Amino acid sequence: MTVTRFAPSPNGPLHLGHAYAAIVAQDRAARDQGAFLLRIEDIDGARSRPELAAAFRADLAWLGLAWREVLPQSQRIATYAAAADTLRAAGLLYPCRCTRAEIAARATKQGPDGPVYPGTCRPGTGRKHPVEPGPDVAWRLDMERAMAAAGDLAWLDERRGPQQARPGAFGDVVLWRKDAPASYHLAATVDDAADGITVVTRGADLFAATHVHRLLQALLGLPVPVWHHHPVLVEADGRKLAKRRGAPSLTDRRLSGEDGIALTADLRAALFDTGISLSEYVNQAP
Ligand code: GLU
Repeated sequence: MTVTRFAPSPNGPLHLGHAYAAIVAQDRAARDQGAFLLRIEDIDGARSRPELAAAFRADLAWLGLAWREVLPQSQRIATYAAAADTLRAAGLLYPCRCTRAEIAARATKQGPDGPVYPGTCRPGTGRKHPVEPGPDVAWRLDMERAMAAAGDLAWLDERRGPQQARPGAFGDVVLWRKDAPASYHLAATVDDAADGITVVTRGADLFAATHVHRLLQALLGLPVPVWHHHPVLVEADGRKLAKRRGAPSLTDRRLSGEDGIALTADLRAALFDTGISLSEYVNQAP
């Protein structure tokens, strides 16, 4: 059975781009009489605002969508810890105590997520004394070893065709943080498997992240779904919609009395009279 999901982070209100993503996910499931799930991605306790999850549900209902909600990320920490343990036991993670500023000062390359980690704490690379595990360290994936251990990394994007994961451009990504605790990459990958997601629908702005997720699936022995990276709504000038540039939130629109069902119909037809259009926006790993 086809299972899709909409996985918003309650760090800020939903806007039109989220509405479009949720509609794509629901419609993709409906095409196969499948299931459409809602997963609240509240892994980052410092940034998450619990009251937003209730607003998200009200917004989605106002749009006329129907979903089944699964466990939020804040209730799944033990499964992320188990996945990190598996990778650690395979010798693929190492502790890192670099600050953002240290990384920014030493990095020589930019990856899809920002500066590529210069390898300072990687065993046998930078520091004279190995970094001791402890509560104040992050855990990074040794990308080179991980890629060597993973083997074939084929994946399929329904819209763009067969792909081969090339996660190397990300460098040694953090999978376990001091504070968050699991990274988006680890949490989303583990969750999609646990939730039985068969088609991962999300914006094309997350296309590059799939290279890392496909690698993690190989390392953790998780099932490999199909991906559907949909175009992203952009302003007329090609920039992503953003609240700070005046894009009203779905909650604002709902509370102002706008007809949510009509908005859904407009988004489905991609008929915009607002200067908003769709863009592929693909940030592909080189
Ligand atoms: N939680 C992510 C976001 O709000 C979406 C992640 C995903 O769809 O994989 O941007």
